[in-house]
Amino acid sequence: MREKVKKGIVYLVGAGPGRPDLITLRGVELLKQADCVICDKLATPALLNYVPAGAEIIHTPKRIGPGSFIQEQINKLLIEKALEGKKVVRLKGGDPCVFGRGGEEAAVLAEAGIEFEIVPGVTAGIAAGEYAGVMITDRRYSSQVTFITGQEAEGKEQSNIDWPGLAKFNGTLVFYMGMSNLDFITGQLIKNGMDGETGAAVIADATTPNQRMLQSTVAKIGQKCRDENIGAPAVVIIGEAAKSDNKLNWFMSQPLFGKTIVVTRDKRGNAEFSAKIIAAGGNPLEFDTIKIEPLTESNEFLKMLPEISKYEWIIFTSANGVGVFFEAVHNLNGDARVFGSAKIAAIGGETAGKLTEFGIKADFVPSDFTSAQLAKQLAATVNLKGKKMLLLRSQIGTPEIIETLKKTGADVKDVAVYTTVTAQGDSKGLIDKLNAGQADWLTFCSPSSVRGFFEQIPADVVKSSTVKVASIGPVTSERIEKLGIKIDLEADEHTIDGVINELKRFFTRSL
Ligand code: SAH
Repeated sequence: MREKVKKGIVYLVGAGPGRPDLITLRGVELLKQADCVICDKLATPALLNYVPAGAEIIHTPKRIGPGSFIQEQINKLLIEKALEGKKVVRLKGGDPCVFGRGGEEAAVLAEAGIEFEIVPGVTAGIAAGEYAGVMITDRRYSSQVTFITGQEAEGKEQSNIDWPGLAKFNGTLVFYMGMSNLDFITGQLIKNGMDGETGAAVIADATTPNQRMLQSTVAKIGQKCRDENIGAPAVVIIGEAAKSDNKLNWFMSQPLFGKTIVVTRDKRGNAEFSAKIIAAGGNPLEFDTIKIEPLTESNEFLKMLPEISKYEWIIFTSANGVGVFFEAVHNLNGDARVFGSAKIAAIGGETAGKLTEFGIKADFVPSDFTSAQLAKQLAATVNLKGKKMLLLRSQIGTPEIIETLKKTGADVKDVAVYTTVTAQGDSKGLIDKLNAGQADWLTFCSPSSVRGFFEQIPADVVKSSTVKVASIGPVTSERIEKLGIKIDLEADEHTIDGVINELKRFFTRSL
């Protein structure tokens, strides 16, 4: 019998304008299920983190010229992959059908009888304005807006662009792909009667940490872009909107905007920290220092686990400890009930937050997030004399907490649930950036990441660079200072949010 071939499906997905979290929920859901992703250069690579391991990822060239045969190759590829029965995501910058050839690709798929879905995205022309405080519609000055391609004129005998109409358009003009043709565009507008003093703004790399904006007039914007070396990808906005007040440029006025901040945790921790830096307007640079290795198959752990409910207090000192612990419990088909009626203490908001993911609200979280404070504050709240306590933490935790707890008369057992080993970051890349003054801050969030970092990067590179150093708290600071490196900032609240808040305060103060 002839095997029935199951046809796949193609999703034309808008990746959004640049910032990775400006994609739609539908887009993320489809990336997570994709067998094959065919990706535009304009679509931010960070989105590929959603794609399952083993899925095929194909990058298409950056700029596809008019009528180019590369587009035909892409069309063929879409059909070929779909006919293999795959779920194909065609990921495109911005919106897939706004100057994105989504329409052409959809037509080819329809012709070939292949199912497709279009997932809209936030288009650059809209996002760029909003991320620069340039409002393309506003009932006070612009009741209409036109999106125009700046490339159309090239090589076309008969232009479809209505230059006389645009020159007297009473609203906002938004040009895509206009940078290489900017003088031609402004020249056409002026030639057809637009006042050269009309406002013009260019917004490049919108929504990313490299966003730049220039404001000028239609007559002068071309020269100004050359002077300031502003290039593609950029949108050109023309009209009253382009004269916007700098006060509305909320994105570029954020305190961390334009600052490169190196994060130095494990892979998962770096991704989490980076997302928060991006949300605060900064530019994260991820450098892996450590890898978390569970120790939950050790005899000590496996012997302790069935007895765990006999402890009166169980203490977690890090979110990693909580994560690794529950992974082991789940693998053994258990859940949060293993604790019985034991009380749970957590150091730090992140550790407490991680516990809530497993349905547990910590009974005690010290106000100062260090191990020493946990021991002191807990002892001040409860009588710990003779109490059976269990500390679940990293193998390389400091002895201080044990000593303080023992002094209260508690019966303390310390069980390692994970250890950290040095990871392999891109040390050459980072050293080059540090030497070139291209990193503004180094952040350190644990003594083990300090160790992992300086096993890969010589302390002298940091000392001779202009980079500043931020630490999550005193224990981490001490490790850094021991290497002869000055701490420029230490978080009051010993969490990554605490570090970000302190960095924001630093830049607000120095404005
Ligand atoms: N489909 C895309 C547009 C593709 S055409 C969308 O909907 O956004 C490529 C043009 O989009 C670039 O030449 C530039 O004009 C604009 N563009 C894309 N990303 C941009 C960004 N981050 N900042 C400014 N302009 C951008």
